[in-house]
Amino acid sequence: MTSTPLTATGIGDDVLTDLIDRLAGRFDGEIITPDHPEYDTARTLWNAMIDKRPGLILRCTSTADVVAAVNAAQVHGLAPAVRAGGHSVSGKAMSDGGLTIDLGGMREVTVDAERRLVHVGGGARLGDVDAVTSQHGLIVPAGIMSETGVPGLALGGGIGWFSRKYGLTCDQFVSLEVVLADGSVIEVSEEEHPELFWALKGGGGNFGIVTRFTFKAYEFGPMMRIGISLYHPEDAAEALREYAAIVPTLSRSVGWHGALKDGMPALPFVPPDLVGKRVLMLFSMWLEDAEDPAGAEVVERLGAVGKPCLQVTEVLPFAAKVQRFIDEEFADGHRYYTKEAHVTDLADEAIDTLVEFWKDMPMRGEVELIGLGGAIGDVPEDATAFSNRNYSLWLNFAMSWDDPADDEDHIARTRTIVGDLAPWIGKGIYVNMLNFDEMDRVVEAFGGPEKYARLGRVKARYDRENFFRMNYNILPVTDEE
Ligand SMILES: Cc1cc2nc3c(=O)[nH]c(=O)nc-3n(C[C@H](O)[C@H](O)[C@H](O)COP(=O)(O)OP(=O)(O)OC[C@H]3O[C@@H](n4cnc5c(N)ncnc54)[C@H](O)[C@@H]3O)c2cc1C
Repeated sequence: MTSTPLTATGIGDDVLTDLIDRLAGRFDGEIITPDHPEYDTARTLWNAMIDKRPGLILRCTSTADVVAAVNAAQVHGLAPAVRAGGHSVSGKAMSDGGLTIDLGGMREVTVDAERRLVHVGGGARLGDVDAVTSQHGLIVPAGIMSETGVPGLALGGGIGWFSRKYGLTCDQFVSLEVVLADGSVIEVSEEEHPELFWALKGGGGNFGIVTRFTFKAYEFGPMMRIGISLYHPEDAAEALREYAAIVPTLSRSVGWHGALKDGMPALPFVPPDLVGKRVLMLFSMWLEDAEDPAGAEVVERLGAVGKPCLQVTEVLPFAAKVQRFIDEEFADGHRYYTKEAHVTDLADEAIDTLVEFWKDMPMRGEVELIGLGGAIGDVPEDATAFSNRNYSLWLNFAMSWDDPADDEDHIARTRTIVGDLAPWIGKGIYVNMLNFDEMDRVVEAFGGPEKYARLGRVKARYDRENFFRMNYNILPVTDEE
């Protein structure tokens, strides 16, 4: 392993002046210093628990801008943080005192409808992609809300509504344009730099800055058939038990998701008396033609489990509506603490433990049960850097509040419930959901020591000095070590 002398934080005045001089004539983006009027907006991330003050933010508008930023940073050994959507739960996208390279000016999306390819800029959000692909009756499988950044999500794997049918977002990579630590720009695909291509499918931002993704897309929509049923707390455990028995039998044309919510948002189909109420929401989606009778049957059947206080099926535009359902609930700027776990068995006792926690939890948010399986597991474990493909169910505690005085209590409660669920939790953790208190699980998130070492060899080849280390870091491993 190599250690590095690069500076992570702190930019002195001389260095700042020199950096800005070096960018002159080479950088068309915005140079945001702490005295810039947009500084506070530019340093704000999704999670208000993260309050970092970078010395400089370079908001890039093109690959050439990213190259200029990397080259200038290299002169001073400034290891940059790299920002796209800013949804990293632990705030990896922002430097504290040092340099942040922000790709927020690179959100363009273009579609090659004939070849079913979608080209996406290195700072795009999921909603940017859906807005354009829906005009062509196409989708790129990604996440469950529109504001998440494509880059962070895709480079860590990418799980969402279409995963059961088509696999992860990284499984759709056709090629990527990458700016390496030495400022060179390469195209990475199955044919060119295949080992790096493997590593980028789950290895995160460790190897370079991706300035353009080309994804495979699939025919879909633009309308989607969904089924939603809501349950009062006293009926939640029974509904979850029935659901748990049915979901293993579902075809991969059905996506599903359960959410134990502290308060039901005012979505269009929710009657006023249920708005703000603590409810279990069971949500199913038909991932084929919305008018297919088979979809109507299965969505209706899933919605009828237990004793729902509301059961609706709707056909809605995916991009404009379904993909935006939880945007408001998880908007930027609140305090958030999340914990993700891979569930091996949604046993009755596990359901009871979860429901008991949720009934009394004092914080906002939801406990999410996300149905996986299907196409995710079609890809062999060693075919991509992404690991632990064989879980059929992931559990995510997405907790939020606003008063910093609540931090200690609310974090402790969340940790305790995850501890209580230990008998039903398997190995592995999703690298994209690793939190600030889980840095000892980075090797596990990257699939364990063997896979981590393979990633380390790729890292040594493309970023020997560990320039890109403001992330869930993969240490370079050279053959001599
Ligand atoms: C509200 C919410 C909903 C979520 N939903 C889902 C979901 O449905 N499915 C899912 O799989 N995950 C989901 N996640 C987790 C998500 O995948 C990660 O938070 C991911 O890191 C977000 O990507 P981003 O671009 O917004 O992140 P950022 O915070 O901008 O960056 C995250 C990491 O990626 C690196 N990075 C960013 N851009 C680039 C680039 N262009 N090149 C190289 N490295 C880069 C950064 O350096 C950083 O280490 C969700 C997270 C939140 C907060």
